[in-house]
Amino acid sequence: MPHLARRTVLLGMGASALAACASQPVTMTALPLARPFPKVLSQRDRITRTVVGLRPFRPQGFRLEAERFGDKTVIHNYGHGGCGVTLSWGTSQRAAVMAGETGRLDVAILGGGVMGLTSALILARRGHAVTVYAELMHPNTTSNIAGALWLPSSLYDRDVASEEFLRLNWQVTREAHRGFLPYVNRPGYGVSWVQHSEVSNRVRDPRWALPGGDDLYPDLDVRTTETRFGFPYEERYHAMMIDPDYYLDMLMKDAQLAGAKFIARRFETLEEVLALPQPVVANCTGLGAAKLFGDETLMPIRGQLSHLLPQPEIDYSYTAPGTGGALYMFPRKTGLVLGGSHGRGDFSMDVSEEELTRMIDGHAALAERAAFSTWVPN
Ligand SMILES: Cc1cc2nc3c(=O)[nH]c(=O)nc-3n(C[C@H](O)[C@H](O)[C@H](O)COP(=O)(O)OP(=O)(O)OC[C@H]3O[C@@H](n4cnc5c(N)ncnc54)[C@H](O)[C@@H]3O)c2cc1C
Repeated sequence: MPHLARRTVLLGMGASALAACASQPVTMTALPLARPFPKVLSQRDRITRTVVGLRPFRPQGFRLEAERFGDKTVIHNYGHGGCGVTLSWGTSQRAAVMAGETGRLDVAILGGGVMGLTSALILARRGHAVTVYAELMHPNTTSNIAGALWLPSSLYDRDVASEEFLRLNWQVTREAHRGFLPYVNRPGYGVSWVQHSEVSNRVRDPRWALPGGDDLYPDLDVRTTETRFGFPYEERYHAMMIDPDYYLDMLMKDAQLAGAKFIARRFETLEEVLALPQPVVANCTGLGAAKLFGDETLMPIRGQLSHLLPQPEIDYSYTAPGTGGALYMFPRKTGLVLGGSHGRGDFSMDVSEEELTRMIDGHAALAERAAFSTWVPN
């Protein structure tokens, strides 16, 4: 029973019994604090809103590099697919180092999503004069739509990404994790640990290390018995859960406090970008980089999330197989987030009724499987 804490205890006994114990400890199983598994109430009448967003995906992975245009340097930091929030501290820190290496103080940042805001904060704190230009600002960016579990996923295609990218990504993932840690439980930032389960119908044997290394996933527990929902395989660990509405709000305020200025503006052409007064431009335009910088490899992976009324008793999250694709549930203070849709190449921003039904029915079916489990909180 891998999830039961075991304690070795010495009970009140005579000296001889104690001596016996010294050679043969009495192992007692702590009483399991099992309670009925708290079920997600996946019902249409509990939906508070359904939102759609487009993940900025590149099959070869994110773009993180400096490009020269005459006397201007553009630092690209876009194309993070389904894990831009996750990787934000990693790639933005590296982009900030590239900006520093130009030796110029004035920096324009294009984009007010998680990548633009993180870059603005880092650069402003390093003494740069930062101006953020964006068509859409918090709370209206794709970053506000994100789930947002700290987990690198939907980032690249394995058969396309180079070995060089995979090595970079491994390091960036570790740096990104380090960047987020100071925010866990910091009042107002909406970042906390959650016990996450990745369940599967297939036993992963051999099991590959989790992205960035297993040590980034505290309490990692690989199970083939007593799994969540009774699936054949489970990877259970603690992961950081980020509520983007809280987090981006604080990030923007922190950047403003550090001196960053914000200007609402849409750029139609590269020429408009190059006409900016700043000699250094950080390109954090997400999917917008396709048109602005002619990146034909950038494509959307459409995602649809339904937010349900809060259930404070739900203190776990999961990703599970479902009919027609994956399903995930992330708990927040403000409600439960149901997701898992991945529409590659799909630009539609309309709510899909079919997908909504798949979510509600799929999560309800998982909750029914949970009826046969007990739940031992960590
Ligand atoms: C349904 C869904 C679930 C997700 N779940 C997760 C998750 O669990 N974990 C995770 O880490 N990530 C998740 N993501 C992915 C994450 O949201 C993205 O990777 C991330 O938001 C990308 O951030 P960004 O700052 O690069 O882009 P964005 O947030 O899209 O910001 C781009 C900015 O650039 C501006 N811009 C673009 N073009 C122009 C232009 N021409 N002129 C002026 N401004 C322009 C925009 O207005 C905006 O301000 C999810 C995404 C979706 C859609």
